[in-house]
Amino acid sequence: MPASALTRRHVLLAAAGAAAAPLLLPKRALAAAPLALPPLPYAENALDPVISATTVSFHYGKHHRAYFDNLNKLIAGTPLADQGLEQIIRSTAGASDKTAVFNNAAQAWNHSFYWNSMRPGGGGKPGRELGERIDKDFGGFDAFRKELAGAATSQFGSGWAWLVVADGKLKVVKTGNADNPMTQGMKPLLTIDVWEHAYYLDYQNRRADYVNAVLDKLVNWDFVAQTAAA
Ligand code: MN
Repeated sequence: MPASALTRRHVLLAAAGAAAAPLLLPKRALAAAPLALPPLPYAENALDPVISATTVSFHYGKHHRAYFDNLNKLIAGTPLADQGLEQIIRSTAGASDKTAVFNNAAQAWNHSFYWNSMRPGGGGKPGRELGERIDKDFGGFDAFRKELAGAATSQFGSGWAWLVVADGKLKVVKTGNADNPMTQGMKPLLTIDVWEHAYYLDYQNRRADYVNAVLDKLVNWDFVAQTAAA
């Protein structure tokens, strides 16, 4: 084979390789990409004075970030690294050898959902369509509000209070620690974090004051309605 032919063949192979590489690399890169902490949907001081910038700074910047960092370390190099966050939560729920993965994955998801459940200038009552569903399933907004506030204040220790859809009906539930109602076939629509780190800097032991302030001044009913409709 003449030297010039070899060279030409190598050039062609190199060109083919160069063209093929971008098709292969992103797939591997995506599969192995760490799960990313989503940006806060508003500025750290946007919920002040109901939830102070200091609380949000620690809660989002330290706690929430740590759940993502821990999760990425735990799943690196395992088949779970190829799964999405909700997939990881569903596939590790109740698995006694995957408790740490589940806890960090669920906390990563729960906090993103919590930030979206609030907005500056929120609270009050939902729009008509969701309001009618609440009237139908709880017998009125006040009864719903009382049930959600009750779940949030009565959760013993760390956990979450939720508005969910269960068997086609709206329902209030509470979960302990990192647990998420999606693992029991329910669809979360709204959550309130009742871990002490969510309110202690602003309200100390007065969890009920924090819960009432969130309900009255921060709930993002547009997000809840969109999630219900999705
Ligand atoms: Mn929290």
